[in-house]
Amino acid sequence: MAAMPFAALGLAPPVLKGVRAAGYTEPTPIQAKAIPLILQGGDIIGAAQTGTGKTAAFVLPILTRLLGGKKRLRALVLTPTRELAAQVETNARDYARFTDLRVGVVYGGVPIPPQEKMLGRQGLDLLVATPGRLLDLHGRGVVRLDEIEILVLDEADRMVDMGFAPDLNRIIRLLPTERQTMMFSATMPPELNRVATAALREPARVDLAPPSRPAAGITQAVYPVPKHRKTELLDAILRRHDVGSVIVFARTKHGADRLAKTLSRKGHSVATLHGNRSQGQRERALGDLRRGRVQVLVATDIASRGIDVDGITHVINYDVPHTPEDYVHRIGRTGRVDAVGDAFTLMSPEEKKEVVAIERFLGDTILRVMMPDFDYDTRKPDLGLPGPKAYGAPTQGSAGAGPGGSRPATPSGRRPRKALPFERRPRRR
Ligand code: AMP
Repeated sequence: MAAMPFAALGLAPPVLKGVRAAGYTEPTPIQAKAIPLILQGGDIIGAAQTGTGKTAAFVLPILTRLLGGKKRLRALVLTPTRELAAQVETNARDYARFTDLRVGVVYGGVPIPPQEKMLGRQGLDLLVATPGRLLDLHGRGVVRLDEIEILVLDEADRMVDMGFAPDLNRIIRLLPTERQTMMFSATMPPELNRVATAALREPARVDLAPPSRPAAGITQAVYPVPKHRKTELLDAILRRHDVGSVIVFARTKHGADRLAKTLSRKGHSVATLHGNRSQGQRERALGDLRRGRVQVLVATDIASRGIDVDGITHVINYDVPHTPEDYVHRIGRTGRVDAVGDAFTLMSPEEKKEVVAIERFLGDTILRVMMPDFDYDTRKPDLGLPGPKAYGAPTQGSAGAGPGGSRPATPSGRRPRKALPFERRPRRR
């Protein structure tokens, strides 16, 4: 794809000068997509994460829109943390240095009086703030929000995670209804969805990483593996550093027991959960998982009904579920609270048909991934597996490639397009 120059995006000359001085030669994908949309004045939802250049994607068009207007506080950027607020302000100042626009920042955790003074002294055009501190300052009458024309909710899912939803709603009610609103968020938990519904009008979506269907935030992947190597692969996955509490699903009670025993022998702390257990026994097993007394819970589908555990980092389907509904139900066990979780499915060649049925149900393909450095033992001729190379082994940060990358077509014939589970994950707190 030919790169589009910054100059073609419609930014004002002094803003372009700031961009050049920052050393950027061409826009990142989200900048190329979002800047023209934002300049048109419509609302947008951006699914981009930090590191994609999203700050400039909203700051540059905002500066352009603010130029030449009346000198009032007209743009507000809300962020979850002091660090992010400071970073956004630093960038904004940098991009604004060839303009007469003034940028300021306020956040909690530091004394209020200097911020009060700063707001009183300076006629700001753009303010970056954390929600709680902004409301405090507004309550003291030192900041006016009734002329805000542009609102940005940056890392909105984190703000909601941190309990800022009521503050956001309060702030939004203080703003003029006639305004442009932009929301950037990696995921869309239900509470954020409500905030967004109230704050945004017919937003355009700028997705760099399209959210998965069953619940945004869950990263799904299929690991093709010969049947006889499944347990070894599971063992290898469980040893990965980012794997915390895990529910492993097996089809049968006996399968679950056998697997639990093998995993214990390999040194994992394991509990099992299958049918015929009382609610009390289930709660105990789940409690052990929740408190970290065991890392792995091996469960069957029947037992999974009603499981609700916070903080599960991974659901692993040791066996492909019988039905697509079971699949959605199983993977709904992760990604509940911080809406981040990985759902992996170990797929033997015999199980391909079921996976294709699941994909048809989801209306989307699930990315095939290979565990780097794992011995798939593909010498056996009857496995029907492509060699690891055919999948482009996703070592950390390498593949993901994007359009034109060398990722293979999936069994259903479409090209996978999701980020690999190892990349672009939202930072965990
Ligand atoms: P962000 O995703 O906004 O946190 O930006 C990530 C980093 O990329 C920051 O250090 C930016 O200064 C930098 N950056 C943003 N846009 C560009 C660009 N078009 N070219 C090069 N670097 C950029």
